[in-house]
Amino acid sequence: MRLVIFGRQGAGKGTQAVELAKHYSIPHISTGDMLRAAVRDGTEFGLKAKEIMDRGELVSDDVMLGMVAERLSLPDAANGWILDGFPRTTQQAEDLRSLLGDAGIDLAIDLNVPEDVVVKRIASRRVCEKCGTNYAAPDINIPTVPCTVEGCGGQAVQRADDTEEAVRKRLALYESQTAPLLDWYHGQGLLVIVDGVGAPTEVQAELVGVIDAAV
Ligand code: AMP
Repeated sequence: MRLVIFGRQGAGKGTQAVELAKHYSIPHISTGDMLRAAVRDGTEFGLKAKEIMDRGELVSDDVMLGMVAERLSLPDAANGWILDGFPRTTQQAEDLRSLLGDAGIDLAIDLNVPEDVVVKRIASRRVCEKCGTNYAAPDINIPTVPCTVEGCGGQAVQRADDTEEAVRKRLALYESQTAPLLDWYHGQGLLVIVDGVGAPTEVQAELVGVIDAAV
């Protein structure tokens, strides 16, 4: 099963994609997580990527294609995957199509959450510095939340690119660069839209229902 999930920053896309990956026993491949891991590892590439990400801008298409092509060639991706955060531009969607050839993807999912709702969610989003798990702070003024993943012991803090200015830039980029891809996949008969507002477990059930009906 080859799935691509779209949604504005803060739509709950990462959280839902992790659950879908478990449900269908396929790897969750998040380009944002891969880039943040490179930043945490302090590689030269990670440092360059960090500057771009902190500004809320996009890493270049060719760098992203290299990263995704390498990841999709690993053995655990042989029987499918859920791609989260890629493709993000028309060029990346075309690159993915060339990479996959005739097989293509099975389904593109748009997890739809309006902009005013995601802005509020992002303000309370905290991400573990050690393992990357996401949490919602009970109040936007609470800066850190202890990570509850067994054996981690890290603290979840605000992402450097979750500042108001960077968030506004990323949402604008989503509308201009990524939203047109929804039409692109719709034109190929591959798009389903799922309402992402509501309790995460309800949204998950809706996603599974829609995917099972379509794939
Ligand atoms: P995300 O966690 O998906 O919101 O990604 C965080 C940041 O990583 C983005 O704001 C971009 O700077 C970068 N990034 C992730 N995926 C891509 C991609 N497919 N193309 C370009 N930049 C990306």
